[in-house]
Amino acid sequence: MDKDFRTAYNKCPACGCTKRFFEELLEELKVQGLIPPATTRFDFQQKQGVTLPPQKIATLPIGTEIPAFDIVWDICTECGCMYATVAQRLQAVKSLEQPRIILPTGVGEQLPKGQRPVNLGNIRNN
Ligand SMILES: [Zn+2]
Repeated sequence: MDKDFRTAYNKCPACGCTKRFFEELLEELKVQGLIPPATTRFDFQQKQGVTLPPQKIATLPIGTEIPAFDIVWDICTECGCMYATVAQRLQAVKSLEQPRIILPTGVGEQLPKGQRPVNLGNIRNN
């Protein structure tokens, strides 16, 4: 997989429907003025992480690059299929200071507002 792999799916891969369960709930909340208009997802729809457990990362030298990921999902309102609306490969680097993800060139501008890089200190394995 390319280190800058990123794709966004705008319709259900099973039936082609473009309506999504959580997306429609967000729209209702926006119409009611209960959330900011720029909101693109609920927190629980997004999962970011690295591909190794913290115990393994602790044994690696500073500077080791570790594949990481960012996934956003939703549910098709027509057929119930759960699918990724965004799937992106990221890169984490072990460091003494705040661990961080290095985004591929140009990808940062594509990330939805409010999305933050993965902090290795917050990664869980469940
Ligand atoms: Zn569907």
